[in-house]
Amino acid sequence: MNEKRKPEWTPIGAGKEFATSVMPAMLAPDHVSKAKFPRSKHYDTETLVQGVLSGDRTLLSKAITIIESNSPKHFEPGQELMRKLLPHSGKAIRIGITGVPGAGKSTFIESFGLWLIEQGHQIAVLAVDPSSSLSKGSILGDKTRMDILSRHPQSFIRPSPSSGILGGVARKTRESIVLCEAAGYDVILIETVGVGQSEITVRSMVDFFLLMQIAGAGDELQGIKKGIMELADMIIVNKADGENIPAAQLAQRELNHALHYLRPSTKDWKTKALLCSAIKKTGIEEIWQSIQAFVQQGKTNSSFSTRRTEQITMWFESLITEAVLKSFYAKPGVAQTLPPLKEQVAKGEIPVLTAVKLLLEL
Ligand code: GDP
Repeated sequence: MNEKRKPEWTPIGAGKEFATSVMPAMLAPDHVSKAKFPRSKHYDTETLVQGVLSGDRTLLSKAITIIESNSPKHFEPGQELMRKLLPHSGKAIRIGITGVPGAGKSTFIESFGLWLIEQGHQIAVLAVDPSSSLSKGSILGDKTRMDILSRHPQSFIRPSPSSGILGGVARKTRESIVLCEAAGYDVILIETVGVGQSEITVRSMVDFFLLMQIAGAGDELQGIKKGIMELADMIIVNKADGENIPAAQLAQRELNHALHYLRPSTKDWKTKALLCSAIKKTGIEEIWQSIQAFVQQGKTNSSFSTRRTEQITMWFESLITEAVLKSFYAKPGVAQTLPPLKEQVAKGEIPVLTAVKLLLEL
């Protein structure tokens, strides 16, 4: 692998610290470069569609760049890509992974991903990190992270879209999932950090949600709130190795005890705490077996498809709300009329509903 080659894709405004600047997996492997799709700066949509469907990672990257773009000129090509690729998506298992920085998420994704590849799977890793535009990509942004996985021809790693707004990042990640599935990736891992809303957002786009913890760090430090545990389909106590094993076992028992009293995230599924060492690669097979049991159960009692339908419906509804709000605020006169009306409402000079009606009738 020639490290000096220029990256095929980097987020707007990104520096060298971005994973894609340094991860060779983002570059086309030579056997692909010589193949069907000669490298070019601009591809038409049809070539991108064919490229994605044939699993060409460079064209997949380009396609994602188009759907991630905020530029109006990319809207229609992006939607055309989505329309053509959507029928080829949906077959992967989508797994969300959260945990505080340092819990071992990227070490785990590397071990888990490589193990899955050995079992014949193709792995795509995406991230939802609304802070990435500020921190220059705190997730997947470090060149030493997932070093081996990122070089593997059976994997595709994409950092979080560099937009500060969670809604925007989430939209792009959802569409990237579709593209990755169309490209043949059958396990999609979506990493996020344990900070509030982004976990709820990731939960709303995955089939299975995994919370990674470490023993002895204290609940406060790990942000373990009842709410987050109730989002999880599995809790992994990582770093269960060496001297840490007894502490990890204790944490596992305590978590299982706590889970007993919580509402499960998925109907009829018992969320359990499992032990793992991402470094020693122990516990990984058990984790995968449990995920498979989850999928099996979800397909039998149809909770799997019900969740997906609910997710897409909710997303559709939230986009409608967003679009309606946007067009309302863009209406001529709203920007000028709103501030004085707000003042009048605040002073009690005008009833709230009258003010709303006035604005809507503008
Ligand atoms: P992330 O921020 O959650 O992605 O965490 P990292 O994967 O970067 O790991 C943070 C630190 O924990 C690194 O120094 C890892 O080497 C270490 N670490 C990760 N997994 C394990 C593990 O299973 N056992 C031990 N002992 N250390 C681990």
